[in-house]
Amino acid sequence: MAHVFAACSMCGGEVVPKQIRHTYHWDSRLFVFEDVPAGVCVQCNEAYFTAETVKTMEKTVLNKIRPRHTMRVPVYGYAETAMA
Ligand SMILES: [Zn+2]
Repeated sequence: MAHVFAACSMCGGEVVPKQIRHTYHWDSRLFVFEDVPAGVCVQCNEAYFTAETVKTMEKTVLNKIRPRHTMRVPVYGYAETAMA
């Protein structure tokens, strides 16, 4: 059964179940999870995860599970982009 999420704690909007892409920072590294079950606010787009979902992502990173694929991520310093 789908988890029922409480109203958005940012704006009070309705939070509906959705599958989203989530970027996860751990130990100064970046991980991307696709198709993550979440609750997303219909008004402000804030995403909420159950404790179980967070634990699963944490375990995946800690256990170095083989990823679906990897991608290169460009990193910018804001000052350089402002000058371009
Ligand atoms: Zn909201």
